[in-house]
Amino acid sequence: MNRQEKPLVIAIDGPAASGKSTVGKILAERLGFFYFDTGVMYRAATLAALNHLGSVDDELAVTRLAEKINIDVRPSSLEDGRVMDVLLDGRDVTWEIRTAEVEGNVSQVSAYAGVRKALTEQQRNIGRRGNMVMAGRDIGTVVFPDAAIKIYLDASPQERARRRLQEIQNRGQSASYEEILTAIVHRDEIDSSRVHAPLKAAADAFIINTDGKTVEQVVQECLQVIGSLSK
Ligand code: C5P
Repeated sequence: MNRQEKPLVIAIDGPAASGKSTVGKILAERLGFFYFDTGVMYRAATLAALNHLGSVDDELAVTRLAEKINIDVRPSSLEDGRVMDVLLDGRDVTWEIRTAEVEGNVSQVSAYAGVRKALTEQQRNIGRRGNMVMAGRDIGTVVFPDAAIKIYLDASPQERARRRLQEIQNRGQSASYEEILTAIVHRDEIDSSRVHAPLKAAADAFIINTDGKTVEQVVQECLQVIGSLSK
């Protein structure tokens, strides 16, 4: 693997709640990189569609909206558990994009080709700043297929549902494990079977199954991969 000049992007892909955000954020801190969770872009576009159109069913209208809105990500300004600030047309929507309503509609929005085109372009522009850990579904396959380092994090749906429930409870909210599990399996199905940029590991990605592993164990495995591929 050749040493790359800027932009150095570390791509971390994987299904919902596979640990991308937690692990990606820690890796970025240890490497002195910026952490960019690309899922927030699809979530922000979904929120905009729900607010402006009342639903996400009209593909053309949702696409036009996605082309028009301005989504920005910045280092966290508040210590309330967020990994970064998400601004939608200048407004802080960091927590609004985490509601069950957004979660229930985001996979439909992210299956729209025009939405992906608009948001992929914005992600590339941000990624070109370099020194970036980028987490998503298609970073290693579509957004940065030339990324020097590609990691794919996986875990069973049950483990991922447990983690998501824990996250929600840590925020002082309550939720049902069964409902979370059903929603995760449903979202995986749509994300993996969509025509445009489906969720899948790049052929040259290093796959890590995180079932039963601590965050630190996964971080160490990633650092080993990064170390061996950067040589
Ligand atoms: O990672 P997160 O769960 O926040 O992503 C929300 C949704 O955004 C995913 O279920 C997927 O439909 C979409 N997404 C995507 N491509 C990415 C990141 C997220 O399609 N690179």
